[in-house]
Amino acid sequence: MNSQYMPQQPPQYGASPGSGFGPSQGGYAPQGPNKPAPNQSGFQQPPQMTGLQRGGPPPGLVRGNLPPSGSNISHSVPNGPSHGSPNVQGPHMQGMPIQSALANPGFGPANYHSPGGSPMGHPGSPSQPPPSGPPPMQPHPGSGPGAPPSPSPNQMTAQMAGMNIGGPPRVPTSNSGLPNVPNKAGMTPPASSPPNNYPGAINGGPPPAQGPPAERLPGKQYVNGSMGPPPISGGGPMPPHMAPHGGPPHGMGPSPHFGGPPQPGGMPSLSQGGMPPPPGGMMPPQNNLPPHPGGMPPPRGGMPPQGGMPPQGGMPPQGGMPPQGGMPPQGGMPPQGGMPPQGAMPPPGGMPSHGSMPPPPGTMGGMPPHGGPLQGNMPPPGRMPYPQPGVPPPVDTYQGSMSGPPSGPYGSQQNMGSAQVQGHNYSQPPQSHPSMQSQQARRLDPDQMPSPIQVMQDDQRNRSGIFYTNQKGQVPPLVTTNFVTQDQGNAGPHYIRSTMYNIPATIDMMKQTAVPFGLVLSPLARTADEEYPPPIVDMGELGPVRCIRCKAYMCPFMQFIDGGRRFHCLFCKATTEVPAEYFQHLDHTGQRVDRFERPELTFGTYEFVATKDYCRNNTFPKPPALIFLIDVSYNNIKSGMVHLLCKEMKEILKLLPNDAGAKQSVMRVGFITYNNTVHFYNIKGCLAQPQMMVVGDVQDMFMPLLEGFLCDPSESEAVIDSLMEQIPAMFADTRETETVLAPAIQAGLEALKASECAGKLLVFHSSLPIAEAPGKLKNRDERKLLATEKEKTVLAPQVNTYNNLGQDCVGAGCSVDLFVFNNSYIDIATIGQVCRLTGGEIFKYTYFQADLDGDRLIADIKNNISRPIAFDSIMRVRTSTGVRATDFYGHFFMSNTTDMELASIDCDKAVAVEIKHDDKLTEEDGVYVQVALLYTSCGGQRRLRVLNLSFKTCSQMADLYRSCDLDSIVNFFSKQVVFRLLESSPKQVKDSLVNRCAQMLACYRKNCASPSSAGQLILPECMKLLPLYVNCILKSDAVSGGSDMTIDDRSFVMQAVSIMDLPSSVVYFYPRLIPLHDIDVDSSDIPAPIRCTADKIRDEGVYLLENGVHMFLWIGLNVGMDWVQNVFGVHSAAQIDIDRTALPELDNPLSQRITSLVSTVRQQRHRSMRLTLVRQRDKLEMVFKHFLVEDRGFDGSASYVDFLCHMHKEIRNLLS
Ligand SMILES: [Zn+2]
Repeated sequence: MNSQYMPQQPPQYGASPGSGFGPSQGGYAPQGPNKPAPNQSGFQQPPQMTGLQRGGPPPGLVRGNLPPSGSNISHSVPNGPSHGSPNVQGPHMQGMPIQSALANPGFGPANYHSPGGSPMGHPGSPSQPPPSGPPPMQPHPGSGPGAPPSPSPNQMTAQMAGMNIGGPPRVPTSNSGLPNVPNKAGMTPPASSPPNNYPGAINGGPPPAQGPPAERLPGKQYVNGSMGPPPISGGGPMPPHMAPHGGPPHGMGPSPHFGGPPQPGGMPSLSQGGMPPPPGGMMPPQNNLPPHPGGMPPPRGGMPPQGGMPPQGGMPPQGGMPPQGGMPPQGGMPPQGGMPPQGAMPPPGGMPSHGSMPPPPGTMGGMPPHGGPLQGNMPPPGRMPYPQPGVPPPVDTYQGSMSGPPSGPYGSQQNMGSAQVQGHNYSQPPQSHPSMQSQQARRLDPDQMPSPIQVMQDDQRNRSGIFYTNQKGQVPPLVTTNFVTQDQGNAGPHYIRSTMYNIPATIDMMKQTAVPFGLVLSPLARTADEEYPPPIVDMGELGPVRCIRCKAYMCPFMQFIDGGRRFHCLFCKATTEVPAEYFQHLDHTGQRVDRFERPELTFGTYEFVATKDYCRNNTFPKPPALIFLIDVSYNNIKSGMVHLLCKEMKEILKLLPNDAGAKQSVMRVGFITYNNTVHFYNIKGCLAQPQMMVVGDVQDMFMPLLEGFLCDPSESEAVIDSLMEQIPAMFADTRETETVLAPAIQAGLEALKASECAGKLLVFHSSLPIAEAPGKLKNRDERKLLATEKEKTVLAPQVNTYNNLGQDCVGAGCSVDLFVFNNSYIDIATIGQVCRLTGGEIFKYTYFQADLDGDRLIADIKNNISRPIAFDSIMRVRTSTGVRATDFYGHFFMSNTTDMELASIDCDKAVAVEIKHDDKLTEEDGVYVQVALLYTSCGGQRRLRVLNLSFKTCSQMADLYRSCDLDSIVNFFSKQVVFRLLESSPKQVKDSLVNRCAQMLACYRKNCASPSSAGQLILPECMKLLPLYVNCILKSDAVSGGSDMTIDDRSFVMQAVSIMDLPSSVVYFYPRLIPLHDIDVDSSDIPAPIRCTADKIRDEGVYLLENGVHMFLWIGLNVGMDWVQNVFGVHSAAQIDIDRTALPELDNPLSQRITSLVSTVRQQRHRSMRLTLVRQRDKLEMVFKHFLVEDRGFDGSASYVDFLCHMHKEIRNLLS
């Protein structure tokens, strides 16, 4: 099974070069075992009406059936379609033109068709893949010349026969509406079946009781007794207090606590969204805890034990803990100084304003001046460089504990030096929490380990304000720092960040340091309020001026020579004639006198209006469209989703985006509903009532409506209103539980093709598609395979249908977002492929209940459709010679080795690109990168967004190590790891990451730090958090999620990671933990976060924890009565109803402050997080603690202390 589709894997995550989607992947050769038919034409099947066979009305055409009572939908025989349908599939829609156009636009005809095939890449690089010109097109799979001809007339006829015109969705006979009978897919049975009918297997129950970490869990590896680094040999000053050894090192604190085997029954499903089991067995079904995006079904009261787990349903509340009243024994967390110095966080620097002023003369026109002090290199104030004997002060040598409170015992050496102690501790039996309190015994004080909170606060303090982009190789402020970019020739960090800004000159140095050179690109990122959006340049008929050789676009890096008649390209070194229309004289500095009037000569980010040459078929595009595809089967009706969505549609449609300056959106919308047939609606404004057309033959989907399907929502407002009233009514009594999915998506695709426009499908889907149709899936919910060597078998798609469909969609500029409302296994790994390949994403609402989750859903939809977005786009990264983009990670499709095709990309998504050397670089030249995104705007304008970034080159490793951006490294590594998990075994992938990081740090230690004792761990300043963050990647659900989460949850977070932008990945891997018990009610700021460890949590505290996917409010049992009274309206923490998903809105300042803060935090993330209340010692606490990433995990994953010691050992091994 696996082997059958594995070969397809490489391309699935973004095509590694070469393996990519070469011509070979014709995409349409039958690939998967279940592939229904060569779908190339969609017409090759015998044209009968197979789709309608199952039960219900006679197959074929059902004419004139009236809709269910009360429905006003009128029906009409499609006028055009009889001949129209074939057209939809005809060559002119699907065939070459589109494909070639797509390849084409890719950067203009010149790119692909340049006469003589001028190399588009880097002429100087021998290893460059075939030069430019895949000229005449890289045919899209399935669209090439080989595409089968359009259907013959008789096929058409037959197809029409398959169409149920005007009929209401039939009542399926297949499951005769018997309630409480789960069908084969384990779906929710119709009617009022109690939740406990869900097959246990699908529930996200806790892991088997024997659950101690499997051997392969990384944590285990780090935790064995042999791990401690060898004793320090002399070296670093070791403070006396560190020397004695014996007592449990501190830091072990959490470990003992967490390290034990999961307590029976206590282990809730931690997974994504996984709903924490409710305390007590009284959980009402479904209602209370639909997990957020994740989904484990909440274990409920009467639920049968799930798959071998301990019977949590019946567990006494709090897993046997004494009832809350009792004082928490643990005396609370260790004193720890309680709250960290949060107050220190300065308010976001008053942003001075805008800045798109032209840079001072001399800063542009190519070379930005170098030489200025690199702000990025400034050590944080107050950081004392650790004096090392005989060490030149060079680089920001970080030694262990830095940046910590100045008061602390200083010294990393000591800390690390105490490593030998670690060895002991690991083998110690788990201890109870209280023992941690003996601070004296601590050796490795977590407070002395590099703290992300401190690093963020320092950066905020030092680097907030304006970030000028006029310097080559300048390291931007941290992602978390509040700053405003002033574009002075390099693109701002919101759009493009790099893992490093000083690029090693030689391949050898790159290899030795092992630091990846990666870019994280968010070309559509939102601009801050104080920033200007990228200026738009319209060159008229001339179009963008480009280098004749590499096709780079005009930018500040081009150098004009010869009196302004020619320009020299810094990417490929070629010289190009300046077109007469573009000629301008140079001033005495050799720069064009008009440079300040031309954004493309001044800014790092700008847009060109594209000419027809950059459009499909050389025709300007129509505005993109949005199609809502609503699964109207039983589950979605029952949950209230369909009703809610229809009710809110009017408000949603008001938010359609428009181009800057436009008054109103010109995007059109269309509606499709489906269950095991697909229903199109004619919503033409002139109709009195919407008309419905049913295509029953789901084997061969086609578009029955030529006109009236996609309409302007304001012109068709009344008809849409009417439709939105009728849809819930029409399907109110449905018993249908078997749905199709691929044919519905195909329907949306055909609709866009028929209208010759790009767009996006928003698919609202409920269950595993098990209806007899293309894309039918099997239930393979074997979560026990997660975190084992065999996990790929459930994390890779089970059939290729959705991959092929995704490729078809990209070819037509059709992006797909899936909103999933599953109550059981839905196989996101398979169906999500269509999102992955089309630049789409998944939103997940397991156990959706409209009354509880409706607000989140609607907020997500509104954000989804209103955010900045580019359609039908293609992105290329050009680089100066010597380096080149080789590997690409994210949601897109590649049909060659250079161009990322993104049916859409929006402001919330990022792709990562690895740049590799293929030659030596010269130190004086630097490295230049230009990212070009060709796209169709929401207003229908074809444009090119160009991002330029320049780097320095270096021959000293220290220069590299002072210019790294750790947030980007983490984002890059996480995407790479998630991708690799589908290719290699989890152990290999994780070991490889650990080894690489050890190598990065060992190389620094060897080449940049003083020759001090091997017992010292010396970290480069800008990477001092690398061990922490790498451990966070390793522990994350996306990478290590085991059988305590569902397969869908795991697939969901893997996809989420692969599209995360930097702000999202920073908080996903290191969650934000915000104390709320002493919040200042007069402020509106978000209180400073604290470190993510149980050590920092106090019984009398209340904390909000969020990672962009989950949000928890943890309430200590000793929290002040006033606080509880004000916020929850009850007298004690014990009385709080933790099943609620929203805080009560009470009339007092504290309540308002807290609810407003929760709302603010939600708005900062692009998915609306569900709020889960967790009371101290309730069972849910385990779930909450899972996200305290500095602590040892329940699954045995390493704590920060553990991992740092392990990393130290690895480094020493490499050095010796
Ligand atoms: Zn060039």
